Amino acid sequence: MGTGYYDYKEPAQSKVPGIEKFKGQVVHPQFWPEDLQYEDKKVIIIGSGATAVTLLPNIAKKAKMVTQVQRSPGYFLVLPDKDPLDLALKDNLPKWIADRLIRFKYLVGGTLLYQFCRLFPNKAKEVLAKGWANLLPSSTKPDPHFVPKYQPWDQRMCITPGGDYFKAYREGKADIKTDQIETCTEDGLILKSGEKLTADIIITATGLKIQVGGGAKLLVDDKEVIIADKFMWKGTMLQDIPNLWYVIGYANASWTLAADAAARLITRMINDIESSGKHSAMPFLTPKEQEQAEKDNVSLLPLNSTYVTTAMDRRVIPRAGKSGNWKPRSNYFVDMFRSIYGNITTGMVYA
Ligand SMILES: Cc1cc2nc3c(=O)[nH]c(=O)nc-3n(C[C@H](O)[C@H](O)[C@H](O)COP(=O)(O)OP(=O)(O)OC[C@H]3O[C@@H](n4cnc5c(N)ncnc54)[C@H](O)[C@@H]3O)c2cc1C
Repeated sequence: MGTGYYDYKEPAQSKVPGIEKFKGQVVHPQFWPEDLQYEDKKVIIIGSGATAVTLLPNIAKKAKMVTQVQRSPGYFLVLPDKDPLDLALKDNLPKWIADRLIRFKYLVGGTLLYQFCRLFPNKAKEVLAKGWANLLPSSTKPDPHFVPKYQPWDQRMCITPGGDYFKAYREGKADIKTDQIETCTEDGLILKSGEKLTADIIITATGLKIQVGGGAKLLVDDKEVIIADKFMWKGTMLQDIPNLWYVIGYANASWTLAADAAARLITRMINDIESSGKHSAMPFLTPKEQEQAEKDNVSLLPLNSTYVTTAMDRRVIPRAGKSGNWKPRSNYFVDMFRSIYGNITTGMVYA
């Protein structure tokens, strides 16, 4: 199941009150019109996630004005557009060595940053804020627009390369409102505070609808299996389902790194099954393990973002345990080691 993690046909059910009244263009980023004309137009972006934060500085280059409307703020990590260390490594070393060192640097840096944020959230808030404090114009106040109510990495963090997001504010091409939408009007929207915003285009960067396994219905011996009832083995296979592997990435690091760890594990298992003359592998929990895992009640995705919590409510995310092979993925180094050298017999029935 290399089917990604969201519904390709339907975005998250957006709840923008009165959006049908708006006479301008409404765009959802998942279905971006190739010919969207936003030059010299007034654009409102609703949302505070990576999509909104990536779109804003790029649209601001040509639009008349871009206003981001967010319910609640998120954390920003300002990284250099071109890292001087990367450039030095590329200039002074053969490409294959430089590439590996740069990749390693990002791997270690990302892992350390995540751990730092989780262990020392207050210090992390200070460090993150220092990254952008001097990039905001005095006309844009940090509070409430850039002071999140949750801890760093409770939700995904937005990277702004070279601080491009903040540049749009300094150039007077962007504005931000932290408020709720009362209703949309023919030419814009009204916030709960009573403030009225006008726009030619509204972009609803309100999120994806999580879908695991491309929405495929699973049947074992003609009986439907609900994935939310099943625990995930090494973040890759579902309890009681033979010969089915999922490629699920990280929620708290590059998705593709965990996809890499999954690919290593999957190919290793398939080779092992083939070379030993077996024909199936199926994860299982003993009744005692099942009881314990149910008590533990760990989330497979360690985020409290709305799109994750609504997916939990819709019962489309498999379950995870607290120990052994039922733990969610943790970090690339641990997961790669477990994929290449880890035990692949515990919790597994081979036939
Ligand atoms: C806006 C956005 C920004 C992102 N930014 C990053 C980032 O910076 N870094 C990062 O690592 N990741 C990022 N991701 C996550 C990104 O989705 C993954 O990195 C990567 O694309 C996942 O690859 P994949 O092959 O697992 O799934 P996908 O690229 O999602 O591919 C899944 C494929 O399965 C097909 N499919 C799905 N269901 C079915 C079905 N029922 N039948 C047949 N085919 C089906 C789809 O059509 C698609 O071709 C981002 C995602 C989004 C949406």
